[in-house]
Amino acid sequence: MKKETPICHHCARPEGVKKHGIGNTGNQRYFCRFCKRTFQTRYIYRGNEENMAMQIKKLLSQGHTPEQISSETQVRLQTVNYYAEEMESVC
Ligand SMILES: [Zn+2]
Repeated sequence: MKKETPICHHCARPEGVKKHGIGNTGNQRYFCRFCKRTFQTRYIYRGNEENMAMQIKKLLSQGHTPEQISSETQVRLQTVNYYAEEMESVC
């Protein structure tokens, strides 16, 4: 389990993300091999992305809109929508 790897902040996919050194602000930098872009994250949300995924799904199931969740959790709307679609495909 790669618990410390975040999802891509551009395409919201978790499986292509690799560590890519440290950014000039001292944050961990990551590289996504799908969109070939780097991004930095100051912290992995509340310990790890799995917790954030659970939290997003919980908020979605409680009827929050992706827009609300995005502003509440500081997660990009694109990322929230990724989970929303994932949930819909399960149901
Ligand atoms: Zn990406």
